[in-house]
Amino acid sequence: MTRTFRGGIHPPDHKALSAAKAIEVMPLSARVVIPLQQHIGRISEAIVQVGDRVLRGQPVSKPSGPVSVSSHASLSGTVKAIESYPHPLGQAAPAVVIESDGLDEPHIDFAFNSKYMSLTPEEMKNLIADAGITGMGGATFPTHIKLMPPQDKPIDTVILNGAECEPYLTSDHRLMLEYPEDIVHGLRIIMKVLGVTKGFVAIEKNKPDAIAIFSELLKNDGQISLCPLKVKYPQGAEKQLIYATTRRQVPAGKLPMEVGCVVQNVGTAKAIYEAVAFQKPLIERVVTVTGAVREPKNLLVRIGTSVRELIEYCGGFREEPGKVIMGGPMMGIAQFTLDVPIIKGSSGIVVMSRGEVKEYEPQECIACAQCVDVCPMNLMPTLIVSYVENERWDLAKEAGIMNCMECGSCAFVCPAGRNVMHLMRFGKFMVQEMEKAEKK
Ligand code: SF4
Ligand code: SF4
Repeated sequence: MTRTFRGGIHPPDHKALSAAKAIEVMPLSARVVIPLQQHIGRISEAIVQVGDRVLRGQPVSKPSGPVSVSSHASLSGTVKAIESYPHPLGQAAPAVVIESDGLDEPHIDFAFNSKYMSLTPEEMKNLIADAGITGMGGATFPTHIKLMPPQDKPIDTVILNGAECEPYLTSDHRLMLEYPEDIVHGLRIIMKVLGVTKGFVAIEKNKPDAIAIFSELLKNDGQISLCPLKVKYPQGAEKQLIYATTRRQVPAGKLPMEVGCVVQNVGTAKAIYEAVAFQKPLIERVVTVTGAVREPKNLLVRIGTSVRELIEYCGGFREEPGKVIMGGPMMGIAQFTLDVPIIKGSSGIVVMSRGEVKEYEPQECIACAQCVDVCPMNLMPTLIVSYVENERWDLAKEAGIMNCMECGSCAFVCPAGRNVMHLMRFGKFMVQEMEKAEKK
């Protein structure tokens, strides 16, 4: 059975550029930049000093609060600086700069523990926290926190997100083709930690090869099922995925735990397996580099490698770039410099040519309601945007602006070229400011 949700859009997917490219290991950089904040929550605290020698996998920062994770050296070398550095998610942030010694010497031997499934849930959770794992689909929420639901929110279902509904991106697709067993091992660990006996691997139907592999792998599994999903954006958004998979509706403003679910990305599941079975921290990830580059690729990249190096490794720009986006073109973030590092949540680098970047003046709203039809959160974007334009943050809040997940579907369909999503994002920021001011 094919599952889906209400609303959504069908943008051209452009995945053929890189879907058939096997994951390639990118050569080591001469230098990596490890931001102290690669996660939602408090910035981590540096525990190394300039001049220190560090080894691959060694922690370079520690969590600074309950919602925070450590970062690790992604190669061996010398700490050259701890300074503010351009960050792919926006403003500059402190980072540990490591110059490689070319040896790639490991911190510990990262040997396989064949008895890893005999570890207690608590021991598993500690290994996941120590590995500094965050959601790798782009959300960057600390993974160990997601595995500690409050007692009054019992979890009965874990869903692995293999939808990869963003156009262009193929890193999760390649992981599912090349590491399906690791992904399933990771899912079993998550289920053990949460004490859950029901799991799903949810994959959009535009990846029939991945569906065939998991169908074979799970055919006699009494606990984990494969769930093929209709091809539609944003099928991979948590609430839409939960509804499509279980028919449970997460209430507005609430988290998946409200309906007994935990969602993890397939790449996160693989990282969890490596953390628990090998004590391996999150120091590398698969990144799709695609769009207007000469040779689109799926690269296994050390965290901290610069976007500039990835693009050069893919043969450089194929034509004059109009925009370089980290993540997919719908929810990703346009970069103002190529000197930003790959972080734990960097699923892709998409280069849009000048011709592909819409450059025209937005027109007046023609009240066509197409944005309302496609909004997967059942919002009325046209109405909310009019409140935002009139600085009526109170009315925007009442109309549910905080439920906007910034998927961009409204902007994609708008015939007037209005950047509805950016206005929604701005409105959400202003509502938060209004709430802060009210609390003072
Ligand atoms: S960006 Fe927000 S308002 Fe627009 S379609 Fe997505 S959820 Fe709805
Ligand atoms: S899609 Fe654009 S033009 Fe149509 S109602 Fe929404 S904002 Fe107005």
